[in-house]
Amino acid sequence: MILLAQTLLTLSQMMAACATRTAALGIGPAVVEPLYLLFCMSLSKTCFHFSPIRTSLAPMKTPTLNSTFMDLALEQARAAEMRGEVPIGCVVVKDGSVLSSAGNRTLELNDPTAHAEVLAIREAGKKLSSQRLEGCDLYVTLEPCPMCAAAISFARIRRLYYGAGDAKGGGVDHGVRFYSSPTCHHTPDVYSGLAETDSATMLKAFFQGKRD
Ligand SMILES: [Zn+2]
Repeated sequence: MILLAQTLLTLSQMMAACATRTAALGIGPAVVEPLYLLFCMSLSKTCFHFSPIRTSLAPMKTPTLNSTFMDLALEQARAAEMRGEVPIGCVVVKDGSVLSSAGNRTLELNDPTAHAEVLAIREAGKKLSSQRLEGCDLYVTLEPCPMCAAAISFARIRRLYYGAGDAKGGGVDHGVRFYSSPTCHHTPDVYSGLAETDSATMLKAFFQGKRD
C-alpha cells in the first residue's frame, strides 16, 4: 500500500509538472488527459478507477486539468441562481476552447427543456453550423437528467464531465441510465466528481432556501 501511495504521489507530482510544461507549450488537457489515462491503465488497474465508458476522477483528486472548465460551469450555475433558476451550469469545449456556456433558464423562457446542457448544445451547434458536436466535451455541474443525457448522445459529445450525482433526477448513473440503454447509439466517455462538493452545496442551499 505504501508503495502504491508513493507511486500515486509521484504520479500526481509528475502530472502537475507536466500540466505546467504542456500549458507553456500550448498543449491543452484534450491532449494530456488521454495520455494520462493510458499511462494510469498501464501502471495498474487499481491506481485509477477507469473504464472506457465511465471514469471517476474523485478518488485521485487530480481534476486540475479540467477544473477551469468546470469553474466556468459553476459560474454559469451561480448566474442561474441569481436569476432565480435552479443553479446548474454547463460549458461546451472544443480543442481546449469554450464554444458555448449556459445556465438553466426554464423560468425565464417558460420552457421546461431550457436546461443548461440543452442551451449550451444548441449554441455550440449554431457556432459549428452542425447538429453534431464531434470532438466536443461537455462540462456540467450536476448529473444530466434523462432528457439532457439523450441530447448529449444525439449531439455526439465526446466526453461528459459532471459534478454532483443526482439520485432523484439523474439519467446517467441513476434512473434510466440512458447510456446503458440498447436504444442509445452514441455513448460519451463519462467523468464524474469534478467540483462535486461546490455543485452539491450550491444546489442544497438553493432548495433549502426554497423550503424556508
Ligand atoms: Zn436536463
